Amino acid sequence: MRTKPSRFGFTPQEHRISALPSTVASVIVLMLTMLNGSLLWPVDPLKARLLSGLGMIGIAYIIVLNILVLPNATLNPFFNWLNAFVTPLELGLLTFAISEKLGIYIGVLLILAVISSSITSERGPSYTLILISTATEIFIGQKYNIQEFTFHLSIMLIAIVTVETVGQLKNLSRDHIRRLEIITEFSRQIASSLNAKQVMSLLNAALQNAVKADTYFVGIREGNEMRLELIYDDGKYYENQRTSLDGSLSGWVFENHESLFLPDLRKEVRLPGVRIVLIGKHKTSLSWMGVPMRSGTVDGIIVIGSYRPNAFNRADMELLSSLALHAAQALHNSYDHADVELQAQLDSLTGVYNHGRFLKILKEQADQALEQKQSLSLIMLDVDHFKLYNDTYGHLIGDEILTNLCNVIKQHIKATDAVGRWGGEEFVISLPNAGAEHALQIAERIQQTMLALTVYSDNEKSIPGPTVSQGFAIYPIEADDVIKLIDLADKRLYVAKERGRNQIEPNTIKQTQNE
Ligand code: GH3
Ligand code: MG
Ligand code: MG
Repeated sequence: MRTKPSRFGFTPQEHRISALPSTVASVIVLMLTMLNGSLLWPVDPLKARLLSGLGMIGIAYIIVLNILVLPNATLNPFFNWLNAFVTPLELGLLTFAISEKLGIYIGVLLILAVISSSITSERGPSYTLILISTATEIFIGQKYNIQEFTFHLSIMLIAIVTVETVGQLKNLSRDHIRRLEIITEFSRQIASSLNAKQVMSLLNAALQNAVKADTYFVGIREGNEMRLELIYDDGKYYENQRTSLDGSLSGWVFENHESLFLPDLRKEVRLPGVRIVLIGKHKTSLSWMGVPMRSGTVDGIIVIGSYRPNAFNRADMELLSSLALHAAQALHNSYDHADVELQAQLDSLTGVYNHGRFLKILKEQADQALEQKQSLSLIMLDVDHFKLYNDTYGHLIGDEILTNLCNVIKQHIKATDAVGRWGGEEFVISLPNAGAEHALQIAERIQQTMLALTVYSDNEKSIPGPTVSQGFAIYPIEADDVIKLIDLADKRLYVAKERGRNQIEPNTIKQTQNE
C-alpha cells in the first residue's frame, strides 16, 4: 500500500501559533526568575546578577526564535537541533544559579521548551533536549538521592508524554490534511474527465493513495446484478466480472442507499436478508466497508476490504463517501457526454448516422476491408418522386416514410453494416465483407419491403409507401477509394432513375424478372 507523503505539512505560521502559549508561559517563568534574582540583591550579588542575566538572555532567545527562526521554513530544521543543545545549557546555568526551592522553575521551563520543540520538530530534537537537560540537571544538582531522582524522572516522564501526545495529534491532523488533499486532487482531476474509463482509472489511483485496503472493487448495478468495473485484490487487478446482488453486503448497500462498515466480519452481522460472502480471491477479508456511488443515472458502489480486522475507521468512510460522490458525478457526466456525442452523430429525424459520421465509418470500414482483403459494398438509395409524394400526402407523412424506410433498411442489414442519411431523401448503406451478389440481395429486400409498406393518415386512410431507386458499387474492385465508390454508386442510382425508378443498378436479375 503506497501512501503518498502530504505535500502540505504545517506552515511556519501554524507552528508559531501552536507554540505561542508555551512561548508566552516561558517568558513569564523567565520574568519570575529575574524577579527572584532581584530579591537576592544585595545579599548574593553574584547569583542575583546571574539569574537576571540568564532570565534576560532566555527571553531574548525566545523572542529571536519567534521573530526570526520560526517563520523561516529553511532555518527551522537546523534550529530545532541547535535548540536541543542550547535550551539544556540555559537550564543548566539557571539550575546552577537558582535556589533549591525554586528548582520547579527548571522543570516547568523544560516542559514548556519540550512543548514548543515537539510542535515545531519531529521526535529526534525533542528527545535529545529531554535527555541532555535531565542529565545536566542531575549532574549539576550533585544530589544522588531518591527524592531528586523521583523529581527528575517525573519531569522527564511528563516531557516524554508531551512529545508523544503532540506527535499523535500532529499525525491525526496530517492524516486529515492528506485525506482532504486526496479528495481535492481527485475532484480536480475528474472534473475535466468526460470519459468513464478515465474516471475509473483516476478512482483507482485515488483508492490506492487513500486507503490501506488489501482488496477493493467498484461496481455498477444492473438489475439484480452488479458489473464489477474495477477489481483489485492482493496486488493484482482483475477483468470485468458480474456478480449477483442477492443476499450480499453490496446488495444491502444498493437496497438501503446507505454506507456499511463492518470492522470485523468474524463477528456476527445481523442484516436482514444478508449472508456474509467474504471478498478477496486468495485470502478472505475481515474488514469490510461499502459506500454507495450514486448520481443521476449512476447507481454504483465502492467496496474496500482488508485481511486484517479493524483495518478501517470512520474517517476512511468519510473519505470513501466523498470519493464516491465525486466519481458518481463524473461518471454521470461522462454518460451524458457520450450520449450527447452519439446524438450529434445521428440524424435527428431517422436516427441513422448523419453525412459526416457515415463518411468516417465508411473510411474505417474501407481500410479494414483492404487490410483483410475483403470487399465492401455501398448502396445509394433515393426515394422516388418524393416531392410529389410530399405534395400529395403532406410533409408529416413524408417524414414518417423516411423513418419507416430507415427501419426497413435496418431490418435487412447486420449490426456491423452502417446506414446514413446522405441528404434529403437520399440514404447510403455500407456492407462490409459483402460482394455484388449480397449487395443486390439486400437492395432487393429493401425494394420489396418498401413496395409492401403502407402508412396511415390522421383519418385512418391507408397510404401506399413510395418506391425507391438504388445504385450500388463494390470496393475495391470497382473503385479504389471511398469517394470514387460513392460517385460510382451515385451514377448507378441515376441510371436506375433514368430506367424508370423502382430499380436497382446494376441489376441483371431484376431486369430479367421485369421483362
Ligand atoms: P426523384 O425521383 O427524381 O428523386 O424525385 P424527387 O421528387 O424525390 O426528387 P427531388 O430532389 O426533386 O425532391 C426531393 C424531395 O424530398 C423534396 C423535399 O421536399 C423532400 N424531402 C427532403 N427531405 C425531406 C424530409 O426530411 N421530410 C420530408 N417530408 N420531405 C423531404
Ligand atoms: Mg428522390
Ligand atoms: Mg434526391
